[in-house]
Amino acid sequence: MDMEVENEDGGAGCVRRLPELVVNRIAAGEVVQRPANALKELIENCLDAKSTLIQIIVKAGGLKYMQIQDNGTGIRRDNLEIVCERFTTSKLQNYEDLSKISTYGFRGEALASISHIAHLTIQTKTALDKCAFKATYEDGLLKGTVIPCAGNQGTQITVEDLFFNVITRKKALKSPSEEYQKIFEVVGSYSVHNANVGFVLKKFGENTDLRTPVKSTHINNIRTIYGNTIAKELMEISIKDETVKLKLHGYITNVNFSTKKGILLLFINHRLVESNGIKKALDVVYSTYLPKNGHSFVYLSLELDPQNVDVNIHPTKHEVHFLYEEQIIDKIKTTVEAKLLSCNNSRVLYVQSRLPGATIPDLVEYEDKPNKNTSKAIDPKMLVRTDATDQKLDKFFGLIEDVNATVIDMQSSVEETESFVEETTDGTIENESSNISNTNVKSPKPYVSYANITNTPSHVSYINPKLSFKTRQLCDRRNETRLTSIKNLRLSVEEKCSSNLREILANLVFIGCIDETKTLIQHSTKMYICNAIKFREELFYEILLYDFQNFGLLKFSSPLSIYDLAMLALDLPECGWSEDDGEKTELAEQVKILLTSKRSMLLEYFSVEIDKAGNLLSLPLLLDNYTPFMGALPMYVLRLATHVNWEIEKECFDTFCRETAVFYSQQQHSDDENVVKARDWTQEHVVFAAIRQYFLPPKEFSENGAILQIANLPDLYKVFERC
Ligand code: ADP
Ligand code: MG
Repeated sequence: MDMEVENEDGGAGCVRRLPELVVNRIAAGEVVQRPANALKELIENCLDAKSTLIQIIVKAGGLKYMQIQDNGTGIRRDNLEIVCERFTTSKLQNYEDLSKISTYGFRGEALASISHIAHLTIQTKTALDKCAFKATYEDGLLKGTVIPCAGNQGTQITVEDLFFNVITRKKALKSPSEEYQKIFEVVGSYSVHNANVGFVLKKFGENTDLRTPVKSTHINNIRTIYGNTIAKELMEISIKDETVKLKLHGYITNVNFSTKKGILLLFINHRLVESNGIKKALDVVYSTYLPKNGHSFVYLSLELDPQNVDVNIHPTKHEVHFLYEEQIIDKIKTTVEAKLLSCNNSRVLYVQSRLPGATIPDLVEYEDKPNKNTSKAIDPKMLVRTDATDQKLDKFFGLIEDVNATVIDMQSSVEETESFVEETTDGTIENESSNISNTNVKSPKPYVSYANITNTPSHVSYINPKLSFKTRQLCDRRNETRLTSIKNLRLSVEEKCSSNLREILANLVFIGCIDETKTLIQHSTKMYICNAIKFREELFYEILLYDFQNFGLLKFSSPLSIYDLAMLALDLPECGWSEDDGEKTELAEQVKILLTSKRSMLLEYFSVEIDKAGNLLSLPLLLDNYTPFMGALPMYVLRLATHVNWEIEKECFDTFCRETAVFYSQQQHSDDENVVKARDWTQEHVVFAAIRQYFLPPKEFSENGAILQIANLPDLYKVFERC
């Protein structure tokens, strides 16, 4: 037939009007390029219909079958005849409405398009209807009649054999698994954005792949779908700008997180879209902070004046353009940049893995990325007070003149403390103190400049004793545990807390370290001697409970074999190994096997990273600027195997935290002046700073010698007066 035509026309093609059906089919194939596009439109319809639960079942990547069930308003019986005709919509009356429309789809095209390239069935029931109705469509038209049937309120849409009549499109699609991946991305994105709506996605006849609860939160859904590694590194951002009519809210990963394949969930006016401009801008900002080829996870929801968004784009064309695009992208860039800078004192600390008999780590280096070129490893021995007036302890044991001077000093600091205490009643300081609690301990400045050290005397700010781990506000990015065992352990810490001691510690004035086990502090007119080991142990135990699932990483420069560590421990006299215990090599192997079998739990909850081969890669970063004494590591590893109850959840966490706290509380005994200075610096600016902020001191501390009052200032005066 075609040959004939060609002959008649001498080879020239004949322009003919294509039948309308073919046009519609081609158009539909353009709109719906892959199953995920169709599904996106259908999800948006469910959301427009105010559904709170959307359940999706898929076969063969959506090519064979997609069913989407919602519990929304349903479709009225009398609309069923026409819903699949092009340009039928309940959401738009006239052209002017186009620019104001806030619902998702706005052109009445989705159902029509799908019906041209698939077998489409709608079953629906409104609140007013007594029963549900079912209708099947073909090429935009109702096929047969509307059949009454049983069903719940809401709409169930079934799309079968997508592209059955568009062979080229079908061939172009890669594989069902790839299509399913796209579907997963769409459902994942919509469930993060619509956290109040529950989503379920599964393959036909298989287990659920994705399930988010109704009334969830963005963060929780990100955790469910993308994992805790991302969720725990998220920071919230928001912008409100009247001039460009922009409202933005979102979550972005901080500089600790980096992945090969970046993820950007971008919603503009609640529609999942793509914007190359925004994507590129984010890549540029992150590239300064992340390792080469590293990418971030970003979820952004932009609300723009609908009039400023180009509505004339194709409903499924994801790429959007909008008015003030450049300014808006600039705004996003600066906001993200500022946020990244603020979290820049990275939570990953690298330590040298030198064993055994390692001294205090020689080099600690913060991953201080923006200053990558300029920042260098700083020897902790340099981290000492450079201002002589900060040498508080020396004053006490110095010359007589100095003692007098100190008394005056103490007097003034007493006044200072007391005046702060008085001020709290009017509430003005309260605000200040809550600021402090948000910033101080969890993010002290890294050791970049020595100035920081002398600029942070420990007694200048008032801390309300009511603030502590218990009241600490968790910022959004934190992962709040749901485990009752941990909550109960926290409760018993809170029950045992002495409010009297809390009062003293919250506003202690750090005087100095006598040695690695004794620390002098002052509160009001009284001076106390603290058992530094007991304090550190209890503090770390509490940190382990309260920061559970939220630790930064203390990464070793090279993996440490658990087997070797256990062997080292077994050779130590304090380990008390005897022949009856069995071969050391066998025991060490058992330690390795046991701890390796717990690796996923240890990583998720405690940031203890162990590889499959049984090497220790990281430990939790309990306090910024604090590295445990690595000489104690072998014993710790051994005790994890022998002293942790791995069987019962609560006991397991309790004993694990206790053993870990014991390990972190130990310090090297050394007479080396530099080691001592670095240790004392940490004790004042890291450990006791955290104690002031958050520590819940147990009542037993006042009975077991952990803290003893050794002097009362007025009594001291009497002594001096007599001199
Ligand atoms: P649009 O969403 O642009 O209006 P569609 O083709 O996607 O166009 O849908 C046509 C109409 O069908 C909608 O306007 C709405 O009235 C109705 N509809 C579609 N899906 C649903 C649903 N899940 N629940 C209730 N009504 C729906
Ligand atoms: Mg629609």
